[in-house]
Amino acid sequence: MTDRLVEANRRYAEAFTDPGMDASPVLHVAVVACMDARLDLHKALGLQLGDCHTIRNAGGVVTDDVIRSLTISQHKLGTRSIVLIHHTGCGLEAITEDFRTELEMEVGQRPSWAVESFRDVDQDVRQSMQRVRTSPFLLHTDDVRGFVFDVRTGLLREVDPA
Ligand SMILES: [Zn+2]
Repeated sequence: MTDRLVEANRRYAEAFTDPGMDASPVLHVAVVACMDARLDLHKALGLQLGDCHTIRNAGGVVTDDVIRSLTISQHKLGTRSIVLIHHTGCGLEAITEDFRTELEMEVGQRPSWAVESFRDVDQDVRQSMQRVRTSPFLLHTDDVRGFVFDVRTGLLREVDPA
């Protein structure tokens, strides 16, 4: 499978011309989103190469490591706005924190991380916004907005932070 990707990269590089940009995102925005394969962030948000930072993990959860990336993004690469995107039909709705125990039974070691499963996607987006807004490490927490992406319609729905 990976060979196919490497082959596709050869074709990509053939058509590629150096855009001559530095590492700072042109739109000064960082997007935190779920890793879900049905969410094509650049297409869904009309983003071009160089426009933004994209930080993705299972659920689009604001973990310590996401805060680490956002902190570097804001302090060192000049981003000011944060967009959080969760989505309908997320895999994290289908599992529970019991997954940690299942893993422990299976491999004999309990993961140190939380599964961060959830039942209510809107509440989960609010939780993420709250974690970003209360982080002492971020320079800009005034422009933080959260959305749910509908994997069936391709539309974003904004979540009221209150
Ligand atoms: Zn997801």
